[in-house]
Amino acid sequence: MLKRVLALLLILTLAAPCAGAEMVDNWYEIFVYSFADGDGDRIGDFKGLTERLDYVSDMGFGGVWLMPIHPSPSYHKYDVTDYYAIDPQYGTLDDFRAFLARAHELGIRVIIDLVVNHTSNEHPWFQSAIKDEASPYRAYYNFSAEAKAGYNQLPDGSYFESRFVSTMPDLNLDNPDVRAEIESIVRYWLDMGVDGFRLDAVTSYYTNNKSANIAFLSWLNDTAKAIKPDCFLIGECWEDLYTIADYCESGLSFFTFPVAQGGGYIARILGADVENKGESYGNVVELLWRELGETTMAPFLGNHDTVRIASALGHTVPAKLKLAAGLASMLNGCLFVYYGDEIGMIGSENDPQKRLGMFWDERKNITLAPPGTQMLEYPFPSVAEQLERDSSILNYYRAALALRNELPLIARGEPTVLESPHKDVCLIEKTLDGERLLIVINLAVDDMTLAVPDGYTTLVGDLEVWGQAALEDGELFLPSYGIALLQ
Ligand code: CA
Repeated sequence: MLKRVLALLLILTLAAPCAGAEMVDNWYEIFVYSFADGDGDRIGDFKGLTERLDYVSDMGFGGVWLMPIHPSPSYHKYDVTDYYAIDPQYGTLDDFRAFLARAHELGIRVIIDLVVNHTSNEHPWFQSAIKDEASPYRAYYNFSAEAKAGYNQLPDGSYFESRFVSTMPDLNLDNPDVRAEIESIVRYWLDMGVDGFRLDAVTSYYTNNKSANIAFLSWLNDTAKAIKPDCFLIGECWEDLYTIADYCESGLSFFTFPVAQGGGYIARILGADVENKGESYGNVVELLWRELGETTMAPFLGNHDTVRIASALGHTVPAKLKLAAGLASMLNGCLFVYYGDEIGMIGSENDPQKRLGMFWDERKNITLAPPGTQMLEYPFPSVAEQLERDSSILNYYRAALALRNELPLIARGEPTVLESPHKDVCLIEKTLDGERLLIVINLAVDDMTLAVPDGYTTLVGDLEVWGQAALEDGELFLPSYGIALLQ
């Protein structure tokens, strides 16, 4: 018996570094408000989203992350008033259940945003807390008689912690009653069939206290996994690589922020300032593996808070947008794509601008622009039009996601950067369970012909911007911006 227990422990220990093995490699971030309207009020909802799930599945996504879906006074819903309900703008609980059932039918896992750093100031807990000093909910928040950094004043003269804005009072996460509430919320949605959570603002749980945040996240991870062992939790730790690596001690996954955005690794490689682009990409692959290889990374190009990648890269250059998608999709881990990026939607300046309605077919069918939008512009054609064009940004994304699904070595193999004949060409070998895959990326403006390492005889995949790759007699012809996969 003891032997068996030890053997089991050993297996568990060995399995720990590849905690993502059973995980989904391609995720899609959806803002329900702006995605698809199903009832004619031009605000996105679960009926509309359910109708579009075939699109999500056909694109090659195995999972979706929904931005907050609970009742909230704001359009973005990052200030929750009821953690156990669906915002009426998005439909009913039955609509959500129908969405979840259809998603699971298609093999799509669903994670929802869990916002527990703060509630809405309209949440009944907070309303009770400020109306009655004897309220048990007073201890759910942090009050102070004196002014403090990050605190706002109430009409009665006292102060409450609200780091983001005064309408988002911070919860007191040290209160066991608050933790019990969070456990109950997590259990409610996991029991309903939700597959996990995206955790908002994890670095703000305890301001300037990384170890307390990590401890809280460990508790949350243990709590959720005890309810549903295969649930997926991923945190928003908007920090540098080394800080993210520290947060991984909690056992969760974290978005790999340094890859994303205008100033991120991929945009910088594609910018004018970086020479030796192939070598630079190889350095990024090695750095990510060194710092995060034992965890499940989650590279992405942008999300609802960042300048859209098409805006960041200059949206007049679709080749660059494709290449950015190609470089992101060759990285290890769970790739997240923000809705609309696959058709080159733009958005910068304020938040609503980054969250515009999905352009499915005709302009008149686009959902209402979120409040605060200043300008409406879609530089590239609709989903319907792009699906018809082989060379569209959308079809490039489809091809990239399909490769990640067909060749799990891309997302899960251990990468080794091989010597390259050219500084703008990158050769990465990925190995897993005795299998290997060679990824060759030509970041030069010229087509390249190069000898491939011994043993690679078959071209198993190809992402093309300017033309097709070809392999003949150990020589690979790779057009400019092309990515070839060999086995
Ligand atoms: Ca609607």
